[in-house]
Amino acid sequence: MNNFNPADNIQDLQYFGEFGGVNPSISDSSTYTFLSAKTMFDTFEGNMEGCYLYSRHSSPSNLYLDKALAAMEGTETANVSASGMGAITPTLLQLCGAGDHIVSSRTIYGGTYAFLKNFAPRMGIKTAFVDITKLDVVEAAITPETKVLYCETVSNPLLEVADIAGLSKIAKKHNLTLVVDNTFSPLSVTPIKLGADIVIHSLTKYINGSSDTVGGVTCASQEFINSLKDVNSGASMLLGPTMDSMRSASVMKNMRTLHLRIKQHSYNAAYLAERFEKDGLKTVYPGLASHPSHKIYASMINPEYGFGGMMTVDVGSLAKANALMELMQSKNLGYLAVSLGFYKTLFSAPGTSTSSEIPLEEQTEMGLTDGLIRFSIGLDNDIERTYQMMKGCMQELSIL
Ligand code: PLP
Repeated sequence: MNNFNPADNIQDLQYFGEFGGVNPSISDSSTYTFLSAKTMFDTFEGNMEGCYLYSRHSSPSNLYLDKALAAMEGTETANVSASGMGAITPTLLQLCGAGDHIVSSRTIYGGTYAFLKNFAPRMGIKTAFVDITKLDVVEAAITPETKVLYCETVSNPLLEVADIAGLSKIAKKHNLTLVVDNTFSPLSVTPIKLGADIVIHSLTKYINGSSDTVGGVTCASQEFINSLKDVNSGASMLLGPTMDSMRSASVMKNMRTLHLRIKQHSYNAAYLAERFEKDGLKTVYPGLASHPSHKIYASMINPEYGFGGMMTVDVGSLAKANALMELMQSKNLGYLAVSLGFYKTLFSAPGTSTSSEIPLEEQTEMGLTDGLIRFSIGLDNDIERTYQMMKGCMQELSIL
């Protein structure tokens, strides 16, 4: 994958619409006609390239977006879904059945954690949650039943970094599938280059970038995506988390500006993180030399896209965190809202929101403190102005 540039790969894709439209036409149909019954049968059997049968299986609009996401991640193909969870759960259920075992990072999105901890055991699938930054601990958790190694490139919400190349070595040695959720770091990191087998995104976040829809994708080999979409045994086909064509068309258009947005998110977050740290705030950002995995992350990223737009600041207590978030919102510095990747800065206290599925004692063990605020830094034009205003809020509340 020498000279691989994910944004150039997206840019090189050209899709025209009917009548020469500069955007592809939206396939506004759930079902498709056939001139011959034989072609319909062959399509059902999966033997007719380029023919469509029914939109839960695939639609032209979804295939355009699949191709763009596969080009971005460097995989053979991809399968979009109605949400990030709609990509994560069928992928894991396709890879694992009753009696199988998963080794997962313990610092992952709360919904994924809840699925693995509470729901997957109902299907006979057990998970060991580990500190993903300790490769010896990861390897020690593998059992003869383990099928999958699961992590997020940059974890939600603690911004721990997974050493994907190191994890890939372990996965290969034990014949496991390494599944990486790359939601926090599109373009910045290309997990396939580092040895991941399957890459997942919640498109809801940076890739769509306008907080107007949920969406997800699994990027993988043609063989795996075929298995997910198999009419008889595919988890995506049978559980049905299909993205709507209207939505995939709008996500595709937003993806055209992803490279510009990621650069600006990264620039703004790095700017604030450096200053907050100098001001004495407990700041976590993978671009700071003080981040425990800074060096590894620096070696993993496609440098022009930077270290990403996510950072955390610990202001000491939940009461202070809440007061600060309310004050910042009142000054139009951002929104007190979950999610990430919006043009506007978003902030929340993960312990009581996106990670509330994780029991309190486990939150403490993983270092998820009460006063932690997770910031998704926006596309602000003048970040020095934003910094001064945020600092003013902190001074007003005696946090600084
Ligand atoms: N993965 C990560 C890292 C997330 O942050 C989220 C949502 O917050 C998800 C997956 C789930 O995505 P969705 O909400 O689109 O289902």
